[in-house]
Amino acid sequence: MGGKLAGKVALVTAAAQGIGRAIAEQAAAEGAIVWATDINETALAELDGVENITTRKLNVLSNDDVKALIAEIGTIDVLFNCAGIVHAGTLEEATETDLDFAYDLNVKSMWRTISAALPGMLAQKDGSIVNICSVAGSIKGVPNRFAYGVTKAATVGLTKSVAADYVAKGIRCNGICPGTVESPSLQQRLRDQGDYEAARKAFIARQPIGRIGQPSEIADLAIYLATATYTTGQMHIIDGGWVN
Ligand code: NAD
Repeated sequence: MGGKLAGKVALVTAAAQGIGRAIAEQAAAEGAIVWATDINETALAELDGVENITTRKLNVLSNDDVKALIAEIGTIDVLFNCAGIVHAGTLEEATETDLDFAYDLNVKSMWRTISAALPGMLAQKDGSIVNICSVAGSIKGVPNRFAYGVTKAATVGLTKSVAADYVAKGIRCNGICPGTVESPSLQQRLRDQGDYEAARKAFIARQPIGRIGQPSEIADLAIYLATATYTTGQMHIIDGGWVN
């Protein structure tokens, strides 16, 4: 099978739905040998039987589980870190537990997968890491997203730090900063606001492009970054003109 990622081994976290799922599907369509992982085995099972995709339960909160799976896979050429959670609330509404959990899932998950994948990438002097960050946090302060903004900003620091340390060793590490993207968790956030239609209209209104983004549009960028050989340590904003 040909394609931009022909023969490349790719690991995708949070691949059961939303952005991670679109990335797993597109990477496979581009010829990658994809390990699609998530904690939600039921949703993940919808990818069973897709050519080039192997599904596997992986909880990115567990260092042991991450290490064990990557030891089984062997050398990873492309790592797509998609796992993340939105905590809704201001500083006053986020407890220390909320903040710690957001840091564990949004930031330390990336540290876990990169730590485990790095030795193989270094040995072959080649590897591409694509982290799903966000415009929320470092690019734009977004109301009601304290724990999310703090931790997504940290993923920018993590991305740039890894890029700086390993740029001369064949490793590239880039971030994608999406604006609002259609996904099951977005649907839930809209429902949680009480009036779904009003909440949806408000989300669309803040996108100058006039609509919410699609996961496949983020996946297009992720596939580009997986193959782009002259960019590292950069945040790639894809947000319908939100922060322009
Ligand atoms: P989503 O939030 O609908 O799905 C998240 C997936 O993560 C689920 O399949 C869930 O089972 C999985 N997951 C949760 N905890 C996990 C764990 N411990 N281990 C493994 N998997 C776990 O998908 P989405 O909205 O596309 O978000 C994907 C990423 O994109 C997140 O990092 C999110 O912060 C980021 N992002 C999303 C948007 C958006 O508007 N949707 C915008 C900017 C950034």
